[in-house]
Amino acid sequence: MKEIFIGNYGLAQVGQTLTATGWVANIRHHGKLAFIELRDREGLLQVFVSGEIADFTKLEELKKEDVLAVTGQVVQREERFVNKAIKSGQVELRAEKIEVIASSKPLPFELDQHAHTGEDLRQRYRYLDLRREQMTNNLKLRHQVTSAIRDYLNQLDFLEVETPYLTKSTPEGARDFLVPSRVFKNQFYALPQSPQMLKQLLMGAGLERYYQIVRCFRDEDLRGDRQPEFTQVDLELSFASEEEIRALVEAMLKAVVQKTRGLELPQAFPTISYEEAMSRFGSDKPDTRFGLELKSLTDLCRDNDSLLIKKALDSQEELMGICVPDAAAAFSKKQLSHFYQEVKEFGCSRLVSLQLENGQLSGDLASALEAESEAVIERFEARDGDLILLVMAKKRRAQEALGHLRIEVAKALELIDPSLLHFLWVVDWPLLEWNEDQNRYQAMHHPFTQGIFEDGQEPGENPGQLGSRAYDIVLNGYEIGGGSLRIHDRKAQEAMFELLGMSREDYERDFGFFLEALDYGFPPHGGLALGLDRLVMILAGEENIRQVIAFPKNGTGFDPMLESPSLVDPRQVKELHLELKN
Ligand code: ASP
Repeated sequence: MKEIFIGNYGLAQVGQTLTATGWVANIRHHGKLAFIELRDREGLLQVFVSGEIADFTKLEELKKEDVLAVTGQVVQREERFVNKAIKSGQVELRAEKIEVIASSKPLPFELDQHAHTGEDLRQRYRYLDLRREQMTNNLKLRHQVTSAIRDYLNQLDFLEVETPYLTKSTPEGARDFLVPSRVFKNQFYALPQSPQMLKQLLMGAGLERYYQIVRCFRDEDLRGDRQPEFTQVDLELSFASEEEIRALVEAMLKAVVQKTRGLELPQAFPTISYEEAMSRFGSDKPDTRFGLELKSLTDLCRDNDSLLIKKALDSQEELMGICVPDAAAAFSKKQLSHFYQEVKEFGCSRLVSLQLENGQLSGDLASALEAESEAVIERFEARDGDLILLVMAKKRRAQEALGHLRIEVAKALELIDPSLLHFLWVVDWPLLEWNEDQNRYQAMHHPFTQGIFEDGQEPGENPGQLGSRAYDIVLNGYEIGGGSLRIHDRKAQEAMFELLGMSREDYERDFGFFLEALDYGFPPHGGLALGLDRLVMILAGEENIRQVIAFPKNGTGFDPMLESPSLVDPRQVKELHLELKN
């Protein structure tokens, strides 16, 4: 094992004779002398090779990515030759002996940071891709984040406990990955979507403070910030209030940012309600690094007599929009029609654009809004040169469309400062949301979240209006975690299952073991889970979680290196009592 990584060689090593092992990143030949850039995990070291040493001839055969052991003296570089771009730039190694430990075939792609290589090729040769500095740094950052989290929680007496990966399929939530059992014919394990019930049972077991950095599995359609398997920082505490849990997570995240980015985040994270997030930002995970907040004009237009607006308001639609400063002429017709296509996907039948010039609105609907124009300008605090974009649709649809548009516009105009880290809490979530396809309520978070009931209120009264003790933590427009206070009373848990449309028979079958546990002195408890991949992705300044996962699946859920999923030996299938159809 090497004592010092060669990328960390510095003045302290000057005068010592050392054997540096690493990969050939580059070779420069200058007639009777040569320079090798030798790389290890921590960076590059310049090796000077004089034509006078016996091993000089070995350089003729040397190729990039060969593994070398070079023995020689570390010397200080002259001031003018110091390379500030690398950590070891003040020194170089004067080679006396060069041994080629392993040679490399020509690489399928350049490891140069700037070389552009297709994702699938990079993933096919992931072990090569991970040699790139950026990728190595991402894995280091991930390690620093998990270490900082472990340090923080250990010091608060949390216990790290592992829960099984072969668990039980339960309804609710996303699609499960199933594992057929060989021993139990026709039966399946499920890979956990999260250890939710198990961590709650650990509270029932009296452990009081639990965490786990744990892999979770969801068979969902993939996106840039989703993988079929992903990692959660999963926490659960007994006898803690909602505020205490949030304060703890907040302090933990501040410690992570301090240790990894060297940034102090002195302010408390802002806390806004779900309703406020939707009405101001059109999103339950708002990016607050820029403005462009939503404003509703519905109240201003109650007496408007233009056919279009009247018809919309009569059918309970809302008129709302955003004002983009200095953007009256920023977008071409083509761009605006692209924005229109986007809001259409959210169910808005038109996108209205208005410009403010010389205190007057012009553009679509300007004449229809003539009577309200002053109030509209005031509502948006608009100035000459601003662009106002409006949509009409039912409230949630209009909010979501504008929430999306707000981000598209900010990206197009480069209004987002990528160096900022904006954390915030979203609280006061509804307990349930209506699932149109299944014609029933589903849990907004999950079925174990405590609802908020008025004194004497029956759970079945007005279920759509019920609030909950849930909270999400958001960073730069990504939901990086969520949690809640949990139900710890059997009756309340049964009532929740019933609100979700389950019969006693259903929930006894699927959750009987859990309900039974609530009969044996179950403490009040709550917790949260953070999406580790997303958190690291944002801290690394990356836009895809694959960039911070050592061996990810590609966008279709395939692993191009392992070539998985793959066909298996028919005997294996038979052993599992399965039959494959062609
Ligand atoms: N288990 C939940 C999830 O995966 C998080 C929590 O409520 O702790 O979203």
